[in-house]
Amino acid sequence: MKKKLSQLPSVDLLLEQEDIKIWQKNYTRELIKEKIKVVQDGIRANLLNDVDQDVSVEAVSQRVVEFLAQGVEPSLVPAINATGTVLHTNLGRALLAEEALDEMQAAGESFSNLEYDIDKGKRGSRYVHIQNILRELTGAEDALVVNNNAAAVLLILTSFAQRKEVLISRGELVEIGGSFRIPDVIESTGAILHEVGSTNKTHIKDYEKGINEETAALIRVHTSNYRLIGFTEAVSDRDFVQLAHDHGLPAFNDLGSGLLFDLQKLGLSYEPTVGEMIEADYDLVSFSGDKLLGGPQAGIIVGKKSYIEKLKSSPLLRALRTDKATIAALEATLRLYLNPEQAIEKIPTLKMISLSREDCAKKAQVLKEKIEARDSDFDLKIEPGYSQVGGGAYPGEQLPTSLLRIEHPKCNESRLERELRLSKNHIIARIDDGAVYFDLRTLLEGDYDLIAEALAQAVSN
Ligand SMILES: *Cc1c(COP(=O)(O)O)cnc(C)c1O
Repeated sequence: MKKKLSQLPSVDLLLEQEDIKIWQKNYTRELIKEKIKVVQDGIRANLLNDVDQDVSVEAVSQRVVEFLAQGVEPSLVPAINATGTVLHTNLGRALLAEEALDEMQAAGESFSNLEYDIDKGKRGSRYVHIQNILRELTGAEDALVVNNNAAAVLLILTSFAQRKEVLISRGELVEIGGSFRIPDVIESTGAILHEVGSTNKTHIKDYEKGINEETAALIRVHTSNYRLIGFTEAVSDRDFVQLAHDHGLPAFNDLGSGLLFDLQKLGLSYEPTVGEMIEADYDLVSFSGDKLLGGPQAGIIVGKKSYIEKLKSSPLLRALRTDKATIAALEATLRLYLNPEQAIEKIPTLKMISLSREDCAKKAQVLKEKIEARDSDFDLKIEPGYSQVGGGAYPGEQLPTSLLRIEHPKCNESRLERELRLSKNHIIARIDDGAVYFDLRTLLEGDYDLIAEALAQAVSN
């Protein structure tokens, strides 16, 4: 093997190969040279380890071309979510409504009045665009949008509680996942965490006892990804806010998901809406754009004008601000909420949540037939099951769904799952009870043919 080392084609020779030369439209000559060297190093290392390698110019060129092609492939690629979890944080959370996608595209391809007041012909503010619609939908005096809800909490606490105490119930010291822990976030802002009450019970008198000269604010954090059940007690929002105001302190609420209307009509249990929290007189309420709202990643803050003004004057705001594409998508999503029926119909997150088990069974039947048409060896069964909302919303809530159970005599479940995941369209499915399962809730019409094709391909490999 080692004598092949000297036969390895040189960088200059490889650079002159036609199929490598054409990559000069994508890469500089220098970059191509570097990539050639990486390929050569790999081949050399193998030869030194007595692993045989084809060192002909054609074979090495081929490897260089493959390496060059890899370098221009996107890393962020679409995937098919067959897990049934509607807000799957690992798979990108909320899908956007068509209306939002259109506005996003428009914001990207043309200049806009992002920070320009068209009437006055002067500089304007990027924050005005969503202010009115948020006021209308929540009843709040004013609104501000930042990068995400974590940023919203950060901005609120740095603006109002630096070097001062923030009172919070021990039952609300939430970890959101991805190492975002409310206690850590509070402390990273320079605020001092003052825990009151116990994990399962916090009374109004616990908050009352906790208030002192150092107290800057009272905060509630929605326990969005877990539930306290059993012997529990929490203070009502009205009492909480009243106590804060009696002491001349602001009351904040990190609502997590942030519903704009009650989702009980979709069969989910009661969760407080943003409007209700404004009515309870919170000074600031924050929530995510890409959880149940079904919009782009954003942190939405609504509340009293004087408080929002203070947030707007924070030097931190510049670092947390949202991009024009986000503002465009969020505005379009929020407009759909002017009629909740329309929101459910057009916002994919709400639409998926609204599907009944029967709706999912109908979808399963269509998919089943498409798969059978390609390969009749598949053993397919439609079974009842449950899906999750996800995204830290509605913990433990089970949405009745229909699953397609998939087995094939020539391919076990773990191989099938892997083949689907690595296939061109990256189908992410569940494995349970010795079979691959597709939950129809999160599949889109356009996915069916791709799935049938990928399954047929998977078992033929
Ligand atoms: C999800 C969540 C956050 C973080 O929101 P992002 O928009 O993901 O930054 C903060 N607080 C609560 C209660 C949450 O549920």
